[in-house]
Amino acid sequence: MPELPEVETMRLQLKRFLVGHDIASVEVKNRKTFQGDENKILNSKVMGVRRFGKVLVIDLANGYSILTHVKLTGQFIYRGPNLPKPQELSKKVTGGVPGPHTLVIFNLDRNGTLYYNDVRRFGWIRIEKTEDVEKEKFIIKLGPEPHVAESSAGQALLTLDLFKEILSKTSRAVKVVLMDQEKMGGVGNIYANDALWLSKVNPKTPAKSLDPKSVKKLYEAIITVLKAGIKYGGASELAFVTPDGTEGNYQNHTLVYGHEGEPCERCHKARINKFFLSGRGTYSCPFCQK
Ligand SMILES: [Zn+2]
Repeated sequence: MPELPEVETMRLQLKRFLVGHDIASVEVKNRKTFQGDENKILNSKVMGVRRFGKVLVIDLANGYSILTHVKLTGQFIYRGPNLPKPQELSKKVTGGVPGPHTLVIFNLDRNGTLYYNDVRRFGWIRIEKTEDVEKEKFIIKLGPEPHVAESSAGQALLTLDLFKEILSKTSRAVKVVLMDQEKMGGVGNIYANDALWLSKVNPKTPAKSLDPKSVKKLYEAIITVLKAGIKYGGASELAFVTPDGTEGNYQNHTLVYGHEGEPCERCHKARINKFFLSGRGTYSCPFCQK
């Protein structure tokens, strides 16, 4: 599932491509994917794109917003005058655009088009009044998020003090706590693995038994890996593509995630070990993450 860096990458590109476009018409091919009345968003200009956790909010000039969560396999693909140059479509866009998996088409002015493809159809798009967006339950429930990108209004900031407090209250394995989206937002499996390796913390350590120095290192490591994720346009595992139709590149720059059996690049004294923790693939160096 896309994590913070992937969704932030989508936000940055959608903002670059869509702001200034008017929505001319909307073709809804699958009613289950699209909730609300598409007529409410016609002939209105895109003003901005915000992110709340993994939800993107496209704000329009007429007081309505388009909310969307791409879940496992949703893809937004833009074609039109704001693309710097025509990009070859990623092979991860199954069936192309428009194609058999295109569920919604936003026809924009100036020959622009925004396609929504979704093979598994878990993602959703919803039309809502802009003033109601921040009253949404999922936004109120969002855990605080580290400051790695333009902050989203309404979402609390994960400060070092707050991070310490969250960890000090539980004896669950630290990696499991990092990935608990109600405790803190933004850290999914890939980035949790990399942040723990970078800070030399054993993923199984009970959260409250971490010493203050390790907590600080881990906090800083989370920010470092999330920023790297955004820099590389996210990780294109499974179906993730960027709105320009290409792929993110973080999967080629992971520190420990996916490196099972390879020598640890830092200590060169052990090979990366893979095991499962709460059902998720966990990678660590048995020497430097004791
Ligand atoms: Zn090592």
